[in-house]
Amino acid sequence: MMPLAHKPNSQRIVAAVRDALGSPTEPLLLHGPVFAGNEWRYLKDCIDTSNVSSSGSYVTEFENRLAQYTGAAHVIATVNGTTALHLALMLAGTDRDTEVLLPSLTFVATANAVAHCGAIPHFCDVENRTMGMDAGKLADHLQSMAERRKDGCYNRRTGRRIAAIVPMHTFGHPVDLDPLLELSRRWNVPVVEDAAESLGSSYHGRHTGTFGKIGILSFNGNKVVTTGGGGAILTNDDELGQHAKHLATTAKVPHPWEFVHDETGYNYTMPSLNAALGCAQMEQLPGFLDHKRKLAQLYIKALSGLEAEGVTVFAEPPGCVSNYWLNALVLDSADEKVRDELLGALNDAHLQCRPIWRPMHMLSMYADCPRMDMAVTESLAARVINLPSSANLLDPARNGGRTAPGKAL
Ligand SMILES: *Cc1c(COP(=O)(O)O)cnc(C)c1O
Repeated sequence: MMPLAHKPNSQRIVAAVRDALGSPTEPLLLHGPVFAGNEWRYLKDCIDTSNVSSSGSYVTEFENRLAQYTGAAHVIATVNGTTALHLALMLAGTDRDTEVLLPSLTFVATANAVAHCGAIPHFCDVENRTMGMDAGKLADHLQSMAERRKDGCYNRRTGRRIAAIVPMHTFGHPVDLDPLLELSRRWNVPVVEDAAESLGSSYHGRHTGTFGKIGILSFNGNKVVTTGGGGAILTNDDELGQHAKHLATTAKVPHPWEFVHDETGYNYTMPSLNAALGCAQMEQLPGFLDHKRKLAQLYIKALSGLEAEGVTVFAEPPGCVSNYWLNALVLDSADEKVRDELLGALNDAHLQCRPIWRPMHMLSMYADCPRMDMAVTESLAARVINLPSSANLLDPARNGGRTAPGKAL
């Protein structure tokens, strides 16, 4: 007989979380930005030199710093992560009426970028260990519905070509990439990595986002480093890298005064102001990662005594280094009532906590998309709670992760 899941004692869990954070007196954000470096100096430089948009050197500098940090041969900075994924998917061969395999348990941008290509999201289940795509289940699913043809892999049931596999690294924890890359080779479907949440995370020593044909990062306000809004395309393929830059900059043929464009391009390139912020943030990234790792360890320690309450803190998978972007409590019991009671208690204690995303196949616009069995996704959706995770939570001298005094959450 299965042991009955315990109903967690919310007050005991709230006390443990508060204890891990040194009993904060002010409300804590889920993830606030930290500006403690050269942000003002670089932004002022942009304004003083009138290099706020496409001119100046900050975009190239930011791209170079990202290339150096991640090891990607080519980095193209974009206005946000969604547009980076839109372009990356197109460059990998996603077009109208193709299908793209992606986890249902993700932020909506992953599915939206597929839809922006005119393609159909095809949802996959995840595994408990990483909260990322389950390669074993995907292997069985492909066996049951896919067919290799000369020009690619096809879904026999819908007749549509399968254009890409899009693994996503949930909360910065690397998904198990090796078996997914093996499936990509076996079925001849390129991998496009959604590494939006995983700047600073590596899988077997290599930075996430650099394994597939092409990958993307996000620098939204709540990510590990922020440019206000921003994203980047990563690739080791010279031709793809050059094409990505061309498409992101309206496909303008380089010329000192003439305006000639040789295909339908996009105005997706990151403005200089945002890149300046990004350069300052990259200088602080190692410190942010240290801080986030310490915070995760404190949460793990503070909650380790509460296993009887049916809660654990999600930890990095073996062989991986996680950036611990968002810490997560995992409840034993997949019961939304239990989850929401705990969420209420945490938020009442001024700890801004939230449930994991509603799975994509449960959103109205994607409810009719093709998918496999979603047992693990649906279970996790009812029992994962994110905890405050800003990169300065343990540092009382700073204010970035905390709301200004008197300001409501
Ligand atoms: C943040 C994020 C994106 C990109 O989001 P933007 O807000 O457009 O930068 C894409 N996928 C996932 C999983 C994300 O978390």
